[in-house]
Amino acid sequence: MLDYDLHCHSNISDGTLTPAEVVDRAFSRGVKVLALTDHDDMDGLDEARSRALQHDMRFINGVEISVTWRKHTLHIVGLNIDPSYAPLQQGLLAVRSGRTERAMRMSDDLARAGISGVYQGAVKYAHNPNMIGRTHFARYLVESGHCKDVKSVFNRYLVNGKPGYVPHQWAALSDAISWINGSGGIAVLAHPGRYMVGKHSMGKKTMHELLAEFSALGGCALEVVTGSHTPEQYAEFARYADEFGLLASCGSDFHGPGESHRDMGRLPDLPLICRPVWERLQ
Ligand code: AMP
Ligand code: MN
Ligand code: MN
Ligand code: MN
Repeated sequence: MLDYDLHCHSNISDGTLTPAEVVDRAFSRGVKVLALTDHDDMDGLDEARSRALQHDMRFINGVEISVTWRKHTLHIVGLNIDPSYAPLQQGLLAVRSGRTERAMRMSDDLARAGISGVYQGAVKYAHNPNMIGRTHFARYLVESGHCKDVKSVFNRYLVNGKPGYVPHQWAALSDAISWINGSGGIAVLAHPGRYMVGKHSMGKKTMHELLAEFSALGGCALEVVTGSHTPEQYAEFARYADEFGLLASCGSDFHGPGESHRDMGRLPDLPLICRPVWERLQ
């Protein structure tokens, strides 16, 4: 079987490696089919694609779009998108546009909690300052000694109810799906298990409503195997995919060496009941 990794990040968004370095790492770890899926930005795709060509790997254009659905933030991965499709480009530009102001408000909120200068510290970690986000804040809070690692930052700060959290309006679900589908791509609901943990998470009833709406809007697949899922969640979301007629995707959600739940590639197989998303990527 080929080794697929259909979700990962470079420093075009909040990863630590350049797009070419991401591809090199994937290649060295046995990945045969790779999608780069930076948050709300497609600028890394050309560099990644030409490096993948050198390794004779198959490369799939991807993106991970930030969405606000009801009160929840969701991530929709687009696979096989066409980066030259104007509505997708313009949509992503609009999604990115609020990040700097949001980051300044996050920094103000942290200052009120006694930690000052976080915006100035965090922006140094953002290769593209317009893409500044919570991961860059987390890296600075680790470097400055406030937390021991990125994971513990997200236990104490930057999430709903904690210092440094600022609510934000991202793209509408219907828009994100139509930009992806309009460009000839496939829309994948990323890491669904993440929406069901924590204080402000969704319950099973809401997950059912989300999956029904996602399918009705033209969503195609569910990320069943991802770095943040447990083996129990692989089985749980395989059943959801089956119930809603969705294909199943897999990806590491790699952000950088030593920082992610999983390194690239060598992901567990999809559960047998799944119809893999690569049926539609041929
Ligand atoms: P933003 O788009 O600025 O809201 O940042 C979201 C990013 O923060 C995600 O893509 C992850 O990279 C990171 N993140 C969110 N929650 C966690 C968490 N609990 N642990 C580690 N990283 C997280
Ligand atoms: Mn991220
Ligand atoms: Mn995500
Ligand atoms: Mn991701």
